[in-house]
Amino acid sequence: MARARLVAGNWKMHGSRESNRALLDRLLQEIPGIKGVECAVCVPFPYLGQIAERLAGSAVAWGAQNVSEHAQGAYTGEVSAAMLAEFGCRYVIVGHSERRQLYGESDAQVAAKFAAAQRAGLVPILCVGETLAERDAGRTEQVVDRQLQQVLNLEGKDSVSKAVVAYEPVWAIGTGRTATPQQAQEVHGFLREKVLPETRILYGGSVKPQNAAAIFAMPDVDGGLVGGASLAAKEFLEILKA
Ligand code: PEP
Repeated sequence: MARARLVAGNWKMHGSRESNRALLDRLLQEIPGIKGVECAVCVPFPYLGQIAERLAGSAVAWGAQNVSEHAQGAYTGEVSAAMLAEFGCRYVIVGHSERRQLYGESDAQVAAKFAAAQRAGLVPILCVGETLAERDAGRTEQVVDRQLQQVLNLEGKDSVSKAVVAYEPVWAIGTGRTATPQQAQEVHGFLREKVLPETRILYGGSVKPQNAAAIFAMPDVDGGLVGGASLAAKEFLEILKA
């Protein structure tokens, strides 16, 4: 089953109007020459207007890093999926491990965010992944299964097949420590059995130009969710080429 490849950058809480402009200029110059992969950037909320203006009509899609599970109302500081759609977002990351760990997002809340995103026509990128302690305890499959199952129970396999799943081992995010291609494939293969064959499953966790090609060559890896390396045009472009 041929699945369209995707490499999405997660800028996290980085950027400025000026550095964004420089980064986007480089991407826009080079991305038309890179075939066979879709590129997206997931940026902080305040930059969505700038990004939408700059990327409109280009080959680069954009999105946000979080979304409220609520449609509207008295939720100070929150941003709804419909608001993201108004800014032309195609993607939104839900359940990033930093949201789960630092802001206490539960599996149920992540599933509700996933549903809210899809209702507004966005494509959720659902992150799942185990901590080092969970891996060491042999609980990797149990953890990612629990995180995915909550969404499957709420929305069903068909909905998940229109979304994107990202396997992001927590111990590999921002640590410089990457899963080996085999470790990634093992978990991707496990996840693949739970979803429809057309569901795209990305790998995330210290993806760099040096390791991207080997990881992306695995049969159940359909691209990457890239944090740190998506902030440097040269590195991000090399990963896209991989
Ligand atoms: C991420 O933030 O989703 C991520 C994978 O970060 P990094 O590539 O920096 O590990």
